[in-house]
Amino acid sequence: MDQQVKEKYKLAGTIGKKALEFGTGLIEPGVYLYDIANGIEKYIGELGGKPSFPVNISINNEAAHYTPFEGDKRKLSRGDIVKLDVGAQVDGYLSDNATTIEVGEAGNHSDLIDATREALTAAIKKLRPHLQVRNIGAEIDRVISSHGFKPIRNLGGHGINRFDLHSEIFIPNYDDGNATTVKPDMVVAIEPFASTGIGMIHNGPGGNIYILSGTKIRKDEPLYQSFNTVPFAQRWVAKLMPNYNEYIRKMMKSKELSEFAVLKEHRGSLISQAEHTVMILSDEIVVTTS
Ligand code: MN
Ligand code: MN
Repeated sequence: MDQQVKEKYKLAGTIGKKALEFGTGLIEPGVYLYDIANGIEKYIGELGGKPSFPVNISINNEAAHYTPFEGDKRKLSRGDIVKLDVGAQVDGYLSDNATTIEVGEAGNHSDLIDATREALTAAIKKLRPHLQVRNIGAEIDRVISSHGFKPIRNLGGHGINRFDLHSEIFIPNYDDGNATTVKPDMVVAIEPFASTGIGMIHNGPGGNIYILSGTKIRKDEPLYQSFNTVPFAQRWVAKLMPNYNEYIRKMMKSKELSEFAVLKEHRGSLISQAEHTVMILSDEIVVTTS
């Protein structure tokens, strides 16, 4: 990997890690999700980066892909299991990292939270060039199952490329039989999810996160000029133009935009997540977000 590219990935990782720590400090009962997301995104800017994607704050049986909308009054409650998922980019080189926090002082679900933390550590320890992705998944499953929880089978890690948060390689959270291997110079996000439920998520309503659809992108499109091809929030469009909801509706209708659904387990289940971004080099594994 080009030395300059490597440095940019590392800087994106460091900013992403600091932003996640900063955000973790904002998690308290009664705090608005809107203020947490905006606060973290502003902090990323102060550190010289831009968000890789809108801050995701997903609660309890939500696994991922909720970001507050403009005017959102949703607040955290004591006991909520919050997945905070944050990333920073430097010149299009992205990081992606996440942690799980139980809101308030109670440690009722530390085991659920530990399960994904330990699974992530174990998976990274196994990681080397030419390892099959099914073996990464098997390791994640082994650790999560040993804690008595289920890995989420239809969610997993992914490759990362410049301005491309979810590039083609998929890293499962169990042995899915996929013999695809990770290669030197790949950047991947590893993200185990553990659930007290069935270990499968379904699509809920939209989580206020959008992305320009691949085949239809016009370079003069204001959303492209602002966000390129990374996911963005309705909140961010609100800062660009007065009629933001109408604009988004119109772009959705013409299929120039796609919306991310909130990914949910069934009601009453709880989910934890842990995530790091890793550079796989021929002679070294670099966790950019640690
Ligand atoms: Mn993430
Ligand atoms: Mn990710």
